[in-house]
Amino acid sequence: MKVLLVEDEEGLIITLTDRLESEGFTVRSATDGEAGLRAALAEAFDLIILDVMLPRKNGYDVCRDLRRQSVETPILMLTARGETIDKVLGLKLGADDYLTKPFEIIELLARIEALLRRAPKTSAHSPETFAFGDVALDFKRAEVTKNGAPVELSAMEFKLLQFLVENRGAVHTRNQLLDEVWGYDAMPSTRTVDVHIAWLRQKLEDNPKYPQFIQTVHGLGYKFIN
Ligand code: CA
Repeated sequence: MKVLLVEDEEGLIITLTDRLESEGFTVRSATDGEAGLRAALAEAFDLIILDVMLPRKNGYDVCRDLRRQSVETPILMLTARGETIDKVLGLKLGADDYLTKPFEIIELLARIEALLRRAPKTSAHSPETFAFGDVALDFKRAEVTKNGAPVELSAMEFKLLQFLVENRGAVHTRNQLLDEVWGYDAMPSTRTVDVHIAWLRQKLEDNPKYPQFIQTVHGLGYKFIN
């Protein structure tokens, strides 16, 4: 497994490279955004760890440029503490997960494992667009329209919808959805899933009380059908 580490803090590069190599990864590093982008375009990686605050080109721009050029490698972004809005922006621009500095290496390894486990499923046959009823989805741009009018979705609503659509027909328990969509450090309860499902229905279904697409399977969870 090959990892590209784009990070400008020397100490962190050394620590992470040592640890990842001891876990069996091959690690390349780049110390600014432009070099990181060049490396990611020149060579195939299994995972990119991308710091946000970088010299020459910031992590968001690198992430956006990679996705525009159809590089689908999972991206784990490293953000500074408390950059809540920026995390949402990162996910919208195509990052798969983020981790707030400072972090424990064990936490980073858990995220990496989750991303690599998840990667083939979403990158191998995920469509770029999808339509159901009056709704059109553009996964690359993270845009949703209903009857041609833009629908505002939060990053988590979008991720949940994308997961349901990509795995349509299958029933997912609330706990599975928490794991798959919210990820490893998911603090929220299964109630959070219900709330996001309700919001999605409110925004996308013609009659949210009698949803046609995002369906409840009583006693089990949810499924998407079209
Ligand atoms: Ca930095």
